[in-house]
Amino acid sequence: MRDDAPNSWESRADRSSLYGFTDLPSVHQRGAVVLTHGEGPYVFDVHGRKYFDANSGLWNMVAGFDHKGLIEAAQAQYARFPGYHAFFGRMSDQTVMLSEKLVEVSPFEKGRVFYTNSGSEANDTMVKILWFLHAAEGKPQRRKILTRVNAYHGVTAVSASMTGKPYNSVFGLPLPGFIHLTCPHYWRNGKEGESEAEFTNRMAAELEATIIKEGPDTIAGFFAEPVMGAGGVITPSKGYFQAVVPILRKYGIPIISDEVICGFGRTGNTWGCETYDFMPDAIISSKNLTAGFFPMGAVILGPELSDRVQAAAEAIEEFPHGFTASGHPVGCAIALKAIDVVMNEGLAENVRKLAPRFEAGMKRLAENPNIGEWRGIGLMGALEAVQDKETKTPFDSKLSVSERIANTCTDLGLICRPLGQAIVLCPPFITTEAQIDEMFETLEKALKKVFAEVA
Ligand SMILES: *Cc1c(COP(=O)(O)O)cnc(C)c1O
Repeated sequence: MRDDAPNSWESRADRSSLYGFTDLPSVHQRGAVVLTHGEGPYVFDVHGRKYFDANSGLWNMVAGFDHKGLIEAAQAQYARFPGYHAFFGRMSDQTVMLSEKLVEVSPFEKGRVFYTNSGSEANDTMVKILWFLHAAEGKPQRRKILTRVNAYHGVTAVSASMTGKPYNSVFGLPLPGFIHLTCPHYWRNGKEGESEAEFTNRMAAELEATIIKEGPDTIAGFFAEPVMGAGGVITPSKGYFQAVVPILRKYGIPIISDEVICGFGRTGNTWGCETYDFMPDAIISSKNLTAGFFPMGAVILGPELSDRVQAAAEAIEEFPHGFTASGHPVGCAIALKAIDVVMNEGLAENVRKLAPRFEAGMKRLAENPNIGEWRGIGLMGALEAVQDKETKTPFDSKLSVSERIANTCTDLGLICRPLGQAIVLCPPFITTEAQIDEMFETLEKALKKVFAEVA
C-alpha cells in the first residue's frame, strides 16, 4: 500500500505528475506504482516488489524488459550515429534499411514508408496523406474519415477524433467529419435472435447506408484495427472484413489497417489483416515495431497509394510534412533488430504455440458466473465481468469492478488492465507456459475475491 511520507515515491509522483489515463481514486488510495527495472516479462517497483506484466507494458514490450540483443543494438547505434532527421533529402542508412525491411515484411509487393514518433502521429499523418492526395486529385471535398465506436487510434486532435470513445467529449472532440460506425461486437451489439451472420450483414449495410447518406465523394478513408485493442480486445464478428471491404472498394474508399497492436505477431501472424484475411491500402505500425524500446510509428503505404501519393508530391515538388525525429537512426536500428527478434528468434512462433493454452485459460475463467464473455485471439484477450451472465447486465459502474480486480491482481504481483468492465491480458511474446498458467491462477484468485465482495 502507499507510503504517505512526504518524500516517498508515491507522494513525489503525486506532487509532480498529471496522471494520464489513470483512475485517480485508485491512485490516491493506493499510490502510483513506481518502477525501477525489468527482467524478462517481470517489472520491479521501488519497494523491490516483482510483478508479471500481463500487458507487456502497454502492449508493446513483446520481447520483455531486458532483451540483450535490443539493448546492444541501441547501444551500438548510439555509439555510431545517435540522431538525425529525414528532411531535405537526408536520412540515416538505418532509415533506408528499415523502410526496405518494412515493405518486405508487409503484405504489399512494393510501397513507401513514412516515420513518426508514435501511433497517434502515424494515424494523423495518414489522414493528412489522404487529405493531401484527394485534394491533389481534384477531390478536395473528400475529407470525412470513417472509423468505429470503441476504436482506439490515439490521442492527438485528429487521432482522438478517430477514436470512438466517449471520454474525448471532455476535449470537445471528435472534430466534425469523423464518423463512427457501430462496433462489430456481436456479443454486446447483436440483437435478440440475430445470428452472427445477420449481425455482420447489418454492419455492412450500415456502412453502405452511411457512405450513401454522407456522399461517397466526401469520404477520405476508412480506418480499422483488425482487433480493437484499447476498445477491449474486440475481435470482429465473423466475416466482418469480407463484408465491409468490397463495399469500401466499390466506392473507392482507401482502407487503412491500424496495426499498432496487431502488427508483428500479436494475433499469431505478422499482421492482423493476414489473420482476418483482407488486403488494406496502407498499414499503421507502432508499439511492437520497436518492441517498446524506442518511441516510433510508421505509415506503410501499399503499391497503389504509394504511387498516387508520390505523384501528388511530385506535382508540387514536395510532401510538406515530417517530425524532427522522423526515421531516427537509433529507433530504426532498434526496429530492425526487433523485427528480426520477433520474426526469427522464435517470438512469433511462441505466440502461436502459447495461443491454445492462453485460450484454454480464458475459457476456464469464463466459466465463472460473473464473466459474461471471453474474447481474443493469439496472445491478446479480455474477460468481461457481468452482474448477470444470462442478461449480460453489467455491474453498477460505481462498484468499479474491473479496477478492483486489477488492483487485487497488482497486490498479488500481477499487472493487468481494467478496460470498461473487462480485464485485458496481452503478455509478452517471451512468456513461458508456466508463466501463462500462473497468470491465470492469480487472476482467478482475484476474480473470486472481488466477485465475493460485490455479487
Ligand atoms: C496505442 C495505439 C495507438 C496510439 O499510439 P501512441 O503511440 O500511443 O500514440 C494508435 N492505434 C492503436 C490501435 C493503438 O493501440
